[in-house]
Amino acid sequence: MRVAFLGLGIMGRPMAANLVKAGHEVTVWNRTAGKEVSGAQVAATPADAAAGAEVVWMCVSDTTAVEQVLFGENGAAHSLSAGVILVDSSTISPAATTQFAERVRAQGVAWVDAPVTGSKIGAENATLIFIAGGDEAALARIQPLFQAMGKQVFHLGETGKGQCAKLAMNLQIAMIYEGFAEAITLASKLGVDINRLLPLIMASMVKSGVVEYKAPFVMKRDFSPNFPLRLMLKDIHLTRDAAKAARVRLPGLEAVEEVYELAAEDGHADLDYAATLTLLEKWAGIEVKG
Ligand code: NAP
Repeated sequence: MRVAFLGLGIMGRPMAANLVKAGHEVTVWNRTAGKEVSGAQVAATPADAAAGAEVVWMCVSDTTAVEQVLFGENGAAHSLSAGVILVDSSTISPAATTQFAERVRAQGVAWVDAPVTGSKIGAENATLIFIAGGDEAALARIQPLFQAMGKQVFHLGETGKGQCAKLAMNLQIAMIYEGFAEAITLASKLGVDINRLLPLIMASMVKSGVVEYKAPFVMKRDFSPNFPLRLMLKDIHLTRDAAKAARVRLPGLEAVEEVYELAAEDGHADLDYAATLTLLEKWAGIEVKG
Protein backbone atom coordinates (compact mmCIF):
# COMPACT_ATOMS: atom_id res chain seq x y z
CA MET A 1 0.00 0.00 0.00
CA ARG A 2 1.08 3.63 -0.47
CA VAL A 3 1.65 4.94 3.07
CA ALA A 4 2.70 8.35 4.36
CA PHE A 5 4.32 8.03 7.80
CA LEU A 6 4.52 11.23 9.85
CA GLY A 7 6.79 11.35 12.91
CA LEU A 8 10.06 9.43 13.20
CA GLY A 9 10.69 9.36 16.94
CA ILE A 10 11.54 6.39 19.16
CA MET A 11 8.38 4.62 17.96
CA GLY A 12 7.68 6.05 14.50
CA ARG A 13 11.04 5.35 12.93
CA PRO A 14 11.12 1.57 13.54
CA MET A 15 7.40 1.35 12.70
CA ALA A 16 7.98 3.01 9.31
CA ALA A 17 11.05 0.79 8.75
CA ASN A 18 8.88 -2.31 9.33
CA LEU A 19 6.37 -1.06 6.73
CA VAL A 20 9.20 -0.75 4.21
CA LYS A 21 10.46 -4.22 5.17
CA ALA A 22 6.98 -5.64 4.47
CA GLY A 23 7.09 -4.21 0.93
CA HIS A 24 4.88 -1.14 1.30
CA GLU A 25 5.58 2.07 -0.61
CA VAL A 26 6.43 4.46 2.23
CA THR A 27 6.99 8.23 2.26
CA VAL A 28 8.18 9.66 5.57
CA TRP A 29 8.16 13.12 7.10
CA ASN A 30 9.61 14.34 10.38
CA ARG A 31 9.53 17.86 11.83
CA THR A 32 13.28 17.92 12.40
CA ALA A 33 15.13 17.02 9.23
CA GLY A 34 17.82 14.36 9.16
CA LYS A 35 15.81 11.39 10.46
CA GLU A 36 15.37 8.95 7.63
CA VAL A 37 14.22 5.41 7.01
CA SER A 38 16.15 3.27 4.56
CA GLY A 39 14.03 2.46 1.50
CA ALA A 40 11.45 5.21 2.14
CA GLN A 41 10.99 8.47 0.21
CA VAL A 42 11.43 11.65 2.28
CA ALA A 43 8.87 14.45 1.96
CA ALA A 44 9.47 18.11 2.83
CA THR A 45 6.07 18.67 4.49
CA PRO A 46 3.20 16.57 5.87
CA ALA A 47 1.06 17.76 2.92
CA ASP A 48 3.70 16.54 0.44
CA ALA A 49 3.97 13.19 2.23
CA ALA A 50 0.20 12.68 2.24
CA ALA A 51 -0.32 13.58 -1.43
CA GLY A 52 -1.24 10.37 -3.26
CA ALA A 53 -1.10 8.18 -0.14
CA GLU A 54 -3.84 5.61 0.52
CA VAL A 55 -3.08 5.65 4.24
CA VAL A 56 -1.58 8.45 6.34
CA TRP A 57 -0.12 7.13 9.63
CA MET A 58 0.94 9.48 12.43
CA CYS A 59 3.11 8.86 15.48
CA VAL A 60 4.01 12.16 17.13
CA SER A 61 4.29 13.33 20.74
CA ASP A 62 0.97 14.76 21.79
CA THR A 63 -2.38 16.34 20.91
CA THR A 64 -0.85 19.66 19.81
CA ALA A 65 1.63 17.89 17.55
CA VAL A 66 -1.15 15.89 15.86
CA GLU A 67 -3.16 19.09 15.33
CA GLN A 68 -0.16 20.88 13.80
CA VAL A 69 0.85 17.96 11.58
CA LEU A 70 -2.69 17.68 10.26
CA PHE A 71 -4.20 21.14 10.21
CA GLY A 72 -1.19 23.49 10.47
CA GLU A 73 0.51 25.23 7.58
CA ASN A 74 1.43 22.51 5.04
CA GLY A 75 -0.48 20.04 7.22
CA ALA A 76 -1.49 16.65 5.84
CA ALA A 77 -5.20 17.57 5.79
CA HIS A 78 -4.51 19.97 2.90
CA SER A 79 -3.78 17.06 0.56
CA LEU A 80 -6.12 14.30 1.77
CA SER A 81 -8.61 13.03 -0.76
CA ALA A 82 -11.80 11.04 -0.23
CA GLY A 83 -11.20 7.38 0.62
CA VAL A 84 -7.93 7.94 2.48
CA ILE A 85 -7.56 6.37 5.94
CA LEU A 86 -5.86 8.45 8.59
CA VAL A 87 -4.35 6.43 11.45
CA ASP A 88 -3.04 7.95 14.65
CA SER A 89 -0.65 5.90 16.77
CA SER A 90 0.22 8.86 18.99
CA THR A 91 -1.34 8.80 22.46
CA ILE A 92 -3.53 11.89 22.56
CA SER A 93 -6.75 13.27 24.04
CA PRO A 94 -9.80 11.10 23.23
CA ALA A 95 -11.98 14.24 23.04
CA ALA A 96 -9.61 15.93 20.56
CA THR A 97 -9.49 12.68 18.56
CA THR A 98 -13.27 12.84 18.08
CA GLN A 99 -13.06 16.48 16.96
CA PHE A 100 -10.16 15.87 14.55
CA ALA A 101 -11.98 12.85 13.09
CA GLU A 102 -15.09 15.01 12.49
CA ARG A 103 -13.01 17.60 10.63
CA VAL A 104 -11.48 15.11 8.20
CA ARG A 105 -14.73 13.15 7.79
CA ALA A 106 -16.00 16.20 5.87
CA GLN A 107 -13.29 15.36 3.27
CA GLY A 108 -14.41 11.72 3.07
CA VAL A 109 -11.45 10.58 5.18
CA ALA A 110 -11.83 7.83 7.81
CA TRP A 111 -10.03 8.13 11.15
CA VAL A 112 -8.63 5.19 13.05
CA ASP A 113 -7.09 5.88 16.45
CA ALA A 114 -4.52 3.14 16.96
CA PRO A 115 -2.27 3.97 19.91
CA VAL A 116 0.17 1.22 20.76
CA THR A 117 1.60 -0.70 23.65
CA GLY A 118 4.91 -2.56 23.51
CA SER A 119 7.34 0.36 23.68
CA LYS A 120 10.61 0.72 21.75
CA ILE A 121 11.44 -3.00 21.69
CA GLY A 122 7.91 -3.80 20.41
CA ALA A 123 8.26 -1.18 17.66
CA GLU A 124 11.67 -2.53 16.61
CA ASN A 125 10.60 -6.19 16.66
CA ALA A 126 7.19 -5.57 15.03
CA THR A 127 5.46 -6.98 18.12
CA LEU A 128 3.36 -3.93 19.00
CA ILE A 129 -0.22 -4.29 20.19
CA PHE A 130 -2.58 -1.80 18.54
CA ILE A 131 -5.50 -0.44 20.58
CA ALA A 132 -7.91 0.65 17.89
CA GLY A 133 -11.00 2.80 17.64
CA GLY A 134 -12.85 3.37 14.38
CA ASP A 135 -14.88 1.90 11.62
CA GLU A 136 -14.67 -1.89 11.12
CA ALA A 137 -14.25 -1.54 7.33
CA ALA A 138 -11.38 0.94 7.68
CA LEU A 139 -9.66 -1.37 10.17
CA ALA A 140 -10.01 -4.31 7.79
CA ARG A 141 -8.37 -2.33 4.95
CA ILE A 142 -5.28 -1.49 7.01
CA GLN A 143 -4.86 -5.01 8.44
CA PRO A 144 -1.69 -5.67 6.34
CA LEU A 145 -0.13 -2.54 7.85
CA PHE A 146 -0.99 -3.59 11.41
CA GLN A 147 0.55 -7.00 10.63
CA ALA A 148 3.77 -5.40 9.37
CA MET A 149 4.27 -3.45 12.61
CA GLY A 150 2.65 -5.49 15.33
CA LYS A 151 1.41 -8.82 16.63
CA GLN A 152 -2.18 -8.03 17.65
CA VAL A 153 -4.97 -5.53 17.12
CA PHE A 154 -7.73 -5.00 19.68
CA HIS A 155 -10.78 -3.15 18.36
CA LEU A 156 -12.30 -1.21 21.26
CA GLY A 157 -15.21 0.48 19.46
CA GLU A 158 -15.85 3.70 17.58
CA THR A 159 -13.33 6.50 16.97
CA GLY A 160 -11.80 7.71 20.24
CA LYS A 161 -12.32 4.45 22.14
CA GLY A 162 -8.79 3.33 21.27
CA GLN A 163 -7.39 6.43 22.98
CA CYS A 164 -9.70 5.93 25.99
CA ALA A 165 -8.49 2.34 26.39
CA LYS A 166 -4.86 3.38 25.92
CA LEU A 167 -5.21 5.78 28.87
CA ALA A 168 -6.61 2.93 30.96
CA MET A 169 -3.57 0.83 29.96
CA ASN A 170 -0.96 3.49 30.79
CA LEU A 171 -2.66 4.27 34.10
CA GLN A 172 -1.84 0.66 35.03
CA ILE A 173 1.71 0.73 33.63
CA ALA A 174 2.53 3.88 35.63
CA MET A 175 1.11 2.40 38.83
CA ILE A 176 2.65 -1.07 38.38
CA TYR A 177 6.09 0.46 37.83
CA GLU A 178 5.61 2.76 40.81
CA GLY A 179 4.80 -0.28 42.96
CA PHE A 180 7.95 -2.05 41.73
CA ALA A 181 10.16 1.02 42.24
CA GLU A 182 8.83 1.63 45.77
CA ALA A 183 9.23 -2.08 46.64
CA ILE A 184 12.87 -2.31 45.53
CA THR A 185 13.69 0.99 47.24
CA LEU A 186 12.22 -0.23 50.55
CA ALA A 187 13.77 -3.70 50.21
CA SER A 188 17.21 -2.18 49.52
CA LYS A 189 16.92 0.12 52.51
CA LEU A 190 15.98 -2.91 54.65
CA GLY A 191 19.11 -4.69 53.43
CA VAL A 192 17.53 -7.19 51.01
CA ASP A 193 19.73 -8.18 48.04
CA ILE A 194 17.74 -7.14 44.92
CA ASN A 195 19.36 -9.96 42.92
CA ARG A 196 17.62 -12.37 45.31
CA LEU A 197 14.36 -10.41 45.38
CA LEU A 198 13.91 -10.29 41.57
CA PRO A 199 13.63 -14.08 41.04
CA LEU A 200 11.05 -14.15 43.86
CA ILE A 201 9.03 -11.41 42.15
CA MET A 202 9.16 -13.22 38.81
CA ALA A 203 8.12 -16.57 40.36
CA SER A 204 5.12 -15.10 42.18
CA MET A 205 1.81 -13.49 41.27
CA VAL A 206 3.59 -10.11 41.50
CA LYS A 207 5.23 -10.86 38.13
CA SER A 208 4.19 -8.47 35.37
CA GLY A 209 5.12 -7.53 31.82
CA VAL A 210 6.08 -4.08 33.10
CA VAL A 211 8.61 -5.50 35.57
CA GLU A 212 9.84 -8.03 33.00
CA TYR A 213 10.55 -5.17 30.53
CA LYS A 214 11.97 -2.67 33.01
CA ALA A 215 13.94 -4.74 35.55
CA PRO A 216 16.93 -5.50 33.25
CA PHE A 217 17.31 -1.79 32.46
CA VAL A 218 16.94 -0.79 36.12
CA MET A 219 19.52 -3.37 37.23
CA LYS A 220 21.99 -1.93 34.69
CA ARG A 221 20.93 1.59 35.75
CA ASP A 222 20.25 2.28 32.08
CA PHE A 223 17.66 5.05 32.10
CA SER A 224 18.07 5.98 28.41
CA PRO A 225 14.57 6.58 27.02
CA ASN A 226 12.47 3.68 25.77
CA PHE A 227 9.39 5.57 26.88
CA PRO A 228 10.45 9.07 27.99
CA LEU A 229 9.21 10.22 31.41
CA ARG A 230 7.83 13.44 29.82
CA LEU A 231 5.51 11.32 27.62
CA MET A 232 4.28 9.16 30.52
CA LEU A 233 3.61 12.41 32.43
CA LYS A 234 1.65 13.64 29.38
CA ASP A 235 -0.42 10.44 29.52
CA ILE A 236 -0.98 10.84 33.27
CA HIS A 237 -2.29 14.37 32.57
CA LEU A 238 -4.55 13.08 29.76
CA THR A 239 -5.88 10.38 32.10
CA ARG A 240 -6.47 12.86 34.91
CA ASP A 241 -8.36 15.19 32.53
CA ALA A 242 -10.51 12.37 31.11
CA ALA A 243 -11.28 11.15 34.63
CA LYS A 244 -12.19 14.65 35.81
CA ALA A 245 -14.56 15.14 32.87
CA ALA A 246 -16.17 11.75 33.61
CA ARG A 247 -16.33 12.51 37.38
CA VAL A 248 -14.12 9.55 38.28
CA ARG A 249 -11.68 9.80 41.22
CA LEU A 250 -8.18 8.31 40.76
CA PRO A 251 -6.36 8.87 44.08
CA GLY A 252 -3.56 6.39 43.26
CA LEU A 253 -2.79 8.09 39.96
CA GLU A 254 -2.77 11.51 41.63
CA ALA A 255 -0.01 10.31 43.99
CA VAL A 256 1.98 8.88 41.05
CA GLU A 257 1.51 12.13 39.12
CA GLU A 258 3.30 14.01 41.89
CA VAL A 259 6.27 11.61 41.69
CA TYR A 260 6.51 12.19 37.91
CA GLU A 261 6.24 15.96 38.25
CA LEU A 262 8.99 16.08 40.88
CA ALA A 263 11.19 13.71 38.85
CA ALA A 264 10.71 15.94 35.79
CA GLU A 265 11.63 19.00 37.91
CA ASP A 266 14.75 17.07 39.01
CA GLY A 267 15.84 17.05 35.34
CA HIS A 268 14.75 13.50 34.39
CA ALA A 269 12.02 14.39 31.86
CA ASP A 270 13.95 13.12 28.83
CA LEU A 271 15.09 9.91 30.54
CA ASP A 272 12.97 6.78 30.65
CA TYR A 273 10.09 6.86 33.13
CA ALA A 274 11.99 4.14 35.04
CA ALA A 275 14.15 7.03 36.27
CA THR A 276 11.37 7.95 38.72
CA LEU A 277 13.19 5.34 40.85
CA THR A 278 16.03 7.82 41.37
CA LEU A 279 13.66 10.22 43.15
CA LEU A 280 12.58 7.47 45.57
CA GLU A 281 16.24 6.60 46.11
CA LYS A 282 17.06 10.23 46.84
CA TRP A 283 14.28 10.41 49.44
CA ALA A 284 15.43 7.10 51.00
CA GLY A 285 19.11 8.08 50.91
CA ILE A 286 20.17 4.87 49.13
CA GLU A 287 20.85 3.52 45.63
CA VAL A 288 19.28 0.23 44.53
CA LYS A 289 22.15 -2.03 43.45
CA GLY A 290 21.83 -4.88 40.97
P1 NAP B 1 9.57 10.77 20.62
O1 NAP B 1 10.74 9.86 20.41
O2 NAP B 1 9.72 11.90 21.57
O3 NAP B 1 9.15 11.33 19.17
C1 NAP B 1 8.17 12.30 19.06
C2 NAP B 1 7.93 12.60 17.60
O4 NAP B 1 6.95 13.64 17.51
C3 NAP B 1 9.17 13.13 16.87
O5 NAP B 1 9.14 12.68 15.53
C4 NAP B 1 8.95 14.64 16.95
O6 NAP B 1 9.63 15.35 15.93
C5 NAP B 1 7.46 14.71 16.73
N1 NAP B 1 6.87 15.97 17.18
C6 NAP B 1 6.81 16.47 18.43
N2 NAP B 1 6.15 17.66 18.45
C7 NAP B 1 5.82 17.91 17.17
C8 NAP B 1 5.13 18.98 16.55
N3 NAP B 1 4.65 20.02 17.24
N4 NAP B 1 4.94 18.91 15.21
C9 NAP B 1 5.39 17.85 14.51
N5 NAP B 1 6.05 16.81 15.03
C10 NAP B 1 6.26 16.84 16.36
O7 NAP B 1 8.28 9.96 21.08
P2 NAP B 1 7.89 8.44 20.86
O8 NAP B 1 8.39 7.64 22.02
O9 NAP B 1 8.22 8.02 19.47
O10 NAP B 1 6.30 8.53 21.06
C11 NAP B 1 5.42 8.93 20.01
C12 NAP B 1 3.99 8.72 20.49
O11 NAP B 1 3.80 7.33 20.81
C13 NAP B 1 3.65 9.50 21.78
O12 NAP B 1 2.32 9.93 21.74
C14 NAP B 1 3.85 8.45 22.88
O13 NAP B 1 3.08 8.75 24.04
C15 NAP B 1 3.37 7.20 22.17
N6 NAP B 1 3.94 5.95 22.70
C16 NAP B 1 5.26 5.84 22.99
C17 NAP B 1 5.76 4.64 23.50
C18 NAP B 1 7.21 4.45 23.86
O14 NAP B 1 7.50 3.47 24.58
N7 NAP B 1 8.15 5.30 23.45
C19 NAP B 1 4.90 3.55 23.70
C20 NAP B 1 3.54 3.70 23.37
C21 NAP B 1 3.07 4.90 22.88
P3 NAP B 1 11.13 15.91 16.16
O15 NAP B 1 12.03 14.78 15.77
O16 NAP B 1 11.21 17.07 15.28
O17 NAP B 1 11.26 16.28 17.63
